[in-house]
Amino acid sequence: MLIVPEREIATLMTRAAAFDAVEQVFAAMAAGDAYNFPVVREAIGHEDALYGFKGGFDRAGLTLGLKAGGYWPDNLEKRGLINHQSTVFLFDPDTGQVRAMVGGNLLTALRTAAASSVSIKHLARPDARVIGMVGAGHQATFQLRAALEQRDFDKVIGWNLHPEMLPNIEAVATEAGLPFEAVELDGMAEADVIVTITSSFAATLMADHVGAGCHVACMGTDTKGKQEVEAALLARATVFTDEVAQSVSIGEAQHAVADGLIAQSDVHQLGAVINGTHAGRISDDEITLFDGTGVGLQDLAVAAAVVDLAVEQGIAIKVDF
Ligand code: NAD
Repeated sequence: MLIVPEREIATLMTRAAAFDAVEQVFAAMAAGDAYNFPVVREAIGHEDALYGFKGGFDRAGLTLGLKAGGYWPDNLEKRGLINHQSTVFLFDPDTGQVRAMVGGNLLTALRTAAASSVSIKHLARPDARVIGMVGAGHQATFQLRAALEQRDFDKVIGWNLHPEMLPNIEAVATEAGLPFEAVELDGMAEADVIVTITSSFAATLMADHVGAGCHVACMGTDTKGKQEVEAALLARATVFTDEVAQSVSIGEAQHAVADGLIAQSDVHQLGAVINGTHAGRISDDEITLFDGTGVGLQDLAVAAAVVDLAVEQGIAIKVDF
């Protein structure tokens, strides 16, 4: 078995490699070559933690495995650890033998940022110039850094429930040489692309906060009950997702579907746009919305890529098992 420890991921994995792995696996899912297993996610009644498993099999990439982990809300304050903790296990699809154990914390942030970034590549207007961030926590910085690579943005605007966290994303804008402006939610109407990445359980971004032609990537809602945007926004938008079953049950679309504002058939796979079987955005005025729920196959794709890199560079630790 190979081990790639968490401490090695930062030097091995690049945003470009994560982007390619996620784009390919979304395409494989839409082509029917890869599928995700049902997600297990449990409130374990200890430390307020949510813990679970996300797994799947990619027949095209021959990647089989799962990510085990979850969200410990007090980790940062109590222990100086990040709130998301996860580990990826890969198995040999020919034999069922364990192939690798890979640190999943940084990979989760990179694969989540890659997902919204893939959505921006395929759905945002080519002339998008202003990007808006709703959220300024741990994931937000990764989201912004990856998103900025997709269009020739000239300004970053941001809103966060806790304004004292906004310097996190301002620093990323500054690092990219772009001006940053803190705005109220109605100021988001200026944005051509909006990324929402919060742990909210009630809508903060309303339908009338979003301007015509905007692409919205909703990345925070990955559990039943969470919500970042008003359900009416999904009714106004053309809705895409990583995985339709997750979108309507644990993603942002759960609320619009439950309220009868959209049907499951109104939610399209982003992979179909990548494969060219869905046209994607068809007009400059259209609002497109990507409901990024986070699928196990994304984790497996980036973990498999990092194992290959670790083997190539002689960094993977080999143990008898
Ligand atoms: P974090 O704890 O570092 O940051 C939380 C963010 O949410 C902060 O910006 C905070 O101000 C904001 N927030 C908290 N309560 C809020 C509320 N009631 N209303 C509006 N905003 C609120 O968390 P993080 O690591 O940045 O993760 C953010 C979210 O992304 C979490 O919900 C996490 O589960 C989700 N997530 C999704 C995926 C995916 O694949 N879709 C992957 C990883 C994380």
